[in-house]
Amino acid sequence: MESSVLARAAAQRREPETRPERTRVMVVANQKGGVGKTTTTVNLAVALAQLGQRVLVVDLDPQGNASTALNVEHHRGIPSTYDALVDGTPLVEIATESPDVPHLSVVPATIDLAGAEIELVSVVARESRLRKAIAGHPLVGSRDEVGEDRLDFVLVDCPPSLGLLTLNALVGGAEMLIPIQAEYYALEGLGQLLETVEMVRQHLNPDLRVSTILLTMYDARTRLAAGVADEVRGHFGDQVLKTAIPRSVRVSEAPSYGQSVLTYDPASAGALSYLEAAREMLTKGTSA
Ligand code: ADP
Ligand code: MG
Repeated sequence: MESSVLARAAAQRREPETRPERTRVMVVANQKGGVGKTTTTVNLAVALAQLGQRVLVVDLDPQGNASTALNVEHHRGIPSTYDALVDGTPLVEIATESPDVPHLSVVPATIDLAGAEIELVSVVARESRLRKAIAGHPLVGSRDEVGEDRLDFVLVDCPPSLGLLTLNALVGGAEMLIPIQAEYYALEGLGQLLETVEMVRQHLNPDLRVSTILLTMYDARTRLAAGVADEVRGHFGDQVLKTAIPRSVRVSEAPSYGQSVLTYDPASAGALSYLEAAREMLTKGTSA
């Protein structure tokens, strides 16, 4: 049974994946901490890259956990998201290539970013700094504009708050990916998040939509998780990916080795489900 799952996964990995016609900018946000935003950003980014996509991760959390997991330097003073937002440094000058994964690059976050939330308050167009930075990246755009070197995905890992950093992300992308932890309080706070999305849509970014919901830390053995999943699917319907990410020690161990679960333990259930979720995102994207 397990070997057939692995064989299928290997076969799927060999299939050529079609690339989107233009760069998809996806904002991974949920103001709750610990729901799996960073884990999802990192592992989906690697999964998408393994499926032949060109991916840029923008670490927008001063904690820099995505930078750590993707094994890129992010000590104070190196060029980072802070420079892009506060000084307008072009993203292409800041991004560094993943040392481990081809076609994946990262704009790291340093602790300097913690100050940006306040420093940006007095900056012109403070909520559209990231939008400008992403739009100004020479590899962001359509096949016609940019050609085959274009980025297919920009994934933005947001901090656990609805402050100016997350607002910049919501203004900067057209798609939002909300990870929801399959636990009792899963839906708490979601109303506030969706109100914020609506506000942004009306005033700052009419293109914004919640394109993708991903259930994380799913424990198939509990009725609670199944109940939460049903509730989320009942509420959001097709926006919810069919694949849920199981709770797995391998997923939580990987970052301490500077790795994604896909490189740390490619045959694990966590790795296979992030790969499957990435495949769903690719096929959904063409119909959405
Ligand atoms: P956020 O970025 O939303 O704060 P994280 O991605 O950092 O959340 O995840 C919070 C914690 O949960 C981390 O310790 C992470 O390793 C762990 N975690 C995330 N997803 C899983 C999973 N599928 N299985 C086990 N642990 C997980
Ligand atoms: Mg995080």
